[in-house]
Amino acid sequence: MKIKWLILPIGLSLLSGCTTENQRQVEETLAPVGEVEKPDTKNEHNEELTEEEQAHLALIESLPEDASSDDWNLLLVNNWTPLPEGFEPNLQEVEPEKSVDTRIVEPFKNWMDAGQKAGHQLYFASGYRSVERQQSNYDRSIDKFKQEGFSEEKAISKTEEYIAIPRRSEHHTGLAVDIVDQQWIADGNGLTPDYDTQESQHWLLETMADHGFVLRYPEGAEDLTDIHYESWHFRYVGKENAMFMTEHDLVLEEFVALLKEKEAN
Ligand SMILES: [Zn+2]
Repeated sequence: MKIKWLILPIGLSLLSGCTTENQRQVEETLAPVGEVEKPDTKNEHNEELTEEEQAHLALIESLPEDASSDDWNLLLVNNWTPLPEGFEPNLQEVEPEKSVDTRIVEPFKNWMDAGQKAGHQLYFASGYRSVERQQSNYDRSIDKFKQEGFSEEKAISKTEEYIAIPRRSEHHTGLAVDIVDQQWIADGNGLTPDYDTQESQHWLLETMADHGFVLRYPEGAEDLTDIHYESWHFRYVGKENAMFMTEHDLVLEEFVALLKEKEAN
């Protein structure tokens, strides 16, 4: 692949927090954009950069041009980053009692239709979940463990093995979907990592980026996501971002951090 090196506009840091529209204007007016020589291989202290540092800079410079860490489809919710206060999802029902963000209805439906055409009977297990519902599931589980004789502390830790802490579930965003196939469920299975033994899961992995989705909690990324491997949980990020993340094997935490690094310079 041919890598295009871009000179980042000087003064972009002054505008951090502005819209991408503004950034684009600045790039058009200030920045000589195009194919230029490789960026300086020395840092500000004039020290030679290691190969790893150079690769990191190259990765930042190849990020999708229009992507911003503030974009709606890159909203990050995890155990360190609760859902923003006052967040109001804009939802549309795609199946009875199952909703997703209005903006992902079309890509999601297109993906599911493509699955059908490829011969997979997919099952949409879960989409949006309200904070209230998460809280009541969470509280009920803690009560249940306490009734079984566990201490408050133990009841909480046992609950959190299976149930996300309210406000820290990505399902609150309306941008996450849990998908398995109907036969898998009919055979008595649930949302378990070994769903990745199924052909339909392989198909989902192969096609997700084309439809703007990524596997949100891949195996081996537990330290970055703080969530165990989930072979069934997909997250909409938009096609260009999904392609980039898949190609470079990045989870959303890493991708957003790279964008923020770019935006800070
Ligand atoms: Zn999920």
